[in-house]
Amino acid sequence: MRSDAYGSLAMPIYTNVSYEFEDAQQISDAFTGKTKAPNYARVENPTVTNLEHRVRALTGAAHVTGYNSGMAAISNAILSVAAQGKNIVSSRHLFGNTLSLITATLMPFGVKPRLRDLTDIEAVEKAVDENTCCIFLEIVTNPQLEVADLQALAEIAHRKGVPVIADSTVIPFTETHLNSLGVDIEVVSSTKYLSGGGTSLGGLVIDYGTFPQINKRIKGDLLYNLGAYMNPYSAYQQTLGLETLEVRYRQQAANAQRVAEGLQQTSGIRRVTYIGLKDNPYYELARKQFGPTSGAMLTLDLDSREVCFDFINRLRVFHRATNLFDSRSLAIHPASTIFGLFPEHQLEQMDVRQTTIRLSIGLEDPEDLLDDIRQALERQ
Ligand SMILES: *Cc1c(COP(=O)(O)O)cnc(C)c1O
Repeated sequence: MRSDAYGSLAMPIYTNVSYEFEDAQQISDAFTGKTKAPNYARVENPTVTNLEHRVRALTGAAHVTGYNSGMAAISNAILSVAAQGKNIVSSRHLFGNTLSLITATLMPFGVKPRLRDLTDIEAVEKAVDENTCCIFLEIVTNPQLEVADLQALAEIAHRKGVPVIADSTVIPFTETHLNSLGVDIEVVSSTKYLSGGGTSLGGLVIDYGTFPQINKRIKGDLLYNLGAYMNPYSAYQQTLGLETLEVRYRQQAANAQRVAEGLQQTSGIRRVTYIGLKDNPYYELARKQFGPTSGAMLTLDLDSREVCFDFINRLRVFHRATNLFDSRSLAIHPASTIFGLFPEHQLEQMDVRQTTIRLSIGLEDPEDLLDDIRQALERQ
C-alpha cells in the first residue's frame, strides 16, 4: 500500500498530534465517523496505521490495532470482553504480568480468574460456563514450554459462544494460521520478534472478526479512553522489523534447533527443553499447530540455583538480559528475575524451577553459542 502523501518509500514517522481540515463540516464528519479521515493521534496515526495494514495483509485478519506494549495489547483485548461477574478461563503458566493482570488487577472489578491446566481438556470443559468471557492462553508457555491443543479448546469455547484469545508472541504470525485452529484474537508483544534488535516496545491485537462486538470495543471506547495506542517511533522500527521478520525468525529458529540438539549431547545438563526436539512431549502437537519451526526459546536445567548463577556469570557470547527473540542471544534465570517477587510456593504452582535457565537464541553462529555454553559448564 502506498500511503504516504509524498510517496516516500519507507513510511515516515508522523509525530503530529492533530490533523487540519478545510472547513467545519469536514472536521465534524471526521469526528463523528462519517468520513475515515484521522482526527487525533491518540487513536490514529499514519505510521501506526501503515504497520497495522501490513500485519492485516500478512495474517488475513479483519482488524489489527497497535499498542504501546504487549501488556497494553493483552489488557485491551481482555477488557474488550471482561465485565463484572464474568470469569476468565486460563492457566497458571502465563507471562508474569499477564498472570498478575488476571489474578490481581482485574479482581476489584469483579472479574474472576479460573486457572486450569489447559492441556487437561476435561478440566477446561468443566470450567467454561455461561459467565466465561474468554479462554486466554499462550501458544507456547514461558518458561515451561507447554503447548495446549488449540482446536480442542476452541471447540469448547465456541460451543458456549466464548472467544479464544491467544498470546502468539513466541512464534510469529507469519508462520502460523491460528485462526484456522479456532483462535479468534491473537495478541502479540511486538517488542520481541518484530522489533528484532530489542529496539522498541509494542503490542498488537490481531482480530479475525469472528466476534464482531470485540472490535467495536477495541476501536471504540477502549482506544479512546485508555490511551494505549502505539507510538509512531515504535511503529516505524517495527515496520522495518516486519520487513526482515521471516528471514530473521527462520535463522533464529534453525539456530535454536541446532543448539538444542547439540546440548542433548552435552554432559552437565540435567534437561534440555525445546518443542523442536523429537522427544519433547509437545513435539507432534507443536508441528501440527505451528508448522516446521519451533521458535527460538529453550530452557536448560542444571543442578541448583547456585550452579545456574555460576553458569550465567561465565557466559561470554550470550548476554545476561531479559527479553526474547532479540537478534542477540540472551540468557536469564527466570525464578530469580522475571518471577523473583513470587513466593516459592507460587513458583512451584507455576512450575518455575530454581534449576532452570531460559535461553533466547539469536543470529550468532550456533557453534559459537554451543562453545560458549560448554565452556560455561566445564568451568564449574
Ligand atoms: C514479553 C511478553 C509479553 C509482554 O510484552 P511487553 O511488550 O513487554 O509488554 C507478553 N507475553 C509474552 C509471551 C511475552 O513474552
